[in-house]
Amino acid sequence: MTKIEGKIVFGIDIGGTSVKCGIFSREGELLYKDEIPTRTQEAGRFILEDISRHIAELSEKNSIEKADVLGIGYGVPGPVQEDGVVNGCVNLGWGKIDVAEQSRKLNGGIASAAGNDANVAALGEFWRGAGRGAKSMLMITVGTGLGCGVIVNGRVVFGAHGAGGELGHIPLVSGLTEPCNCGKTGCLEQAASATGIIRAAQRKLKESDEPSVLRGKDDFMAKDVVDAARNGDALADEVLNYSCRYLAQGLAVAAGVVDPEMYVIGGGVSKAGDFYLDKIRSAYRELAFYASRDAKIVQAALGNDAGMYGAARLVLGSMEA
Ligand SMILES: [Zn+2]
Repeated sequence: MTKIEGKIVFGIDIGGTSVKCGIFSREGELLYKDEIPTRTQEAGRFILEDISRHIAELSEKNSIEKADVLGIGYGVPGPVQEDGVVNGCVNLGWGKIDVAEQSRKLNGGIASAAGNDANVAALGEFWRGAGRGAKSMLMITVGTGLGCGVIVNGRVVFGAHGAGGELGHIPLVSGLTEPCNCGKTGCLEQAASATGIIRAAQRKLKESDEPSVLRGKDDFMAKDVVDAARNGDALADEVLNYSCRYLAQGLAVAAGVVDPEMYVIGGGVSKAGDFYLDKIRSAYRELAFYASRDAKIVQAALGNDAGMYGAARLVLGSMEA
């Protein structure tokens, strides 16, 4: 473990089952990280207290003085306003809660800021990952859902309701009957998320008797579809093309709003690398307005740590403002 000296900042990524805690230098070097469980009982009322206690323990263990802590940043899996107020978060059991204010109270007035987890992950990649050096960037995390974050001129686009850059729920996909998690039908994430890939494969298997290695498997993951496609399975390849085309269409729509310099694709499915990204790249080139067509589409670099990085950067940025 690196010896922890000088000014530091805490980057906290709150998930439904665990809270990732990182200690960063001001420059964004990850000095230490660990996790604690997320106690979602009783409407999540212990979560911020648990984090505060853990921060105190880590500080004690590493001889970090309070004066050396520049700030505490949080990534939260729900809509968060720019002032750190969370507008309800189902996974944590939270209603409306001012995370930044609560954090300052629990941690002796240390500067605090909070953002949506997908937004802070984007900020993390922008600061220390695949987006380094860019001025604007859009990140999509392809997971159970579709997490998205938009950075313009180095700042997260929060939006008026904490839902800025929420590309997962733009209405784009036709021909679906099942509802999305948000209650609507036809959201981008219904086709482009890992769950969307699995569902599309299940539908395709049911509709035809085309041979496929996926046939007869009760339970397969998005990764199995990607692997099958890579190994020449025509049905799996068609499913992946469908999913990637919709994702590219989402990016092309976003290009018409923010025209970012680059797109960063993260999440489990993106680990397939160029095989997956090339499908998105070619569809994007075809679908985007000609001026935005050459924007780069790259793989995320920080993996599951992106949220901690971005949370740390968020609070540093809020102090510069
Ligand atoms: Zn939706």
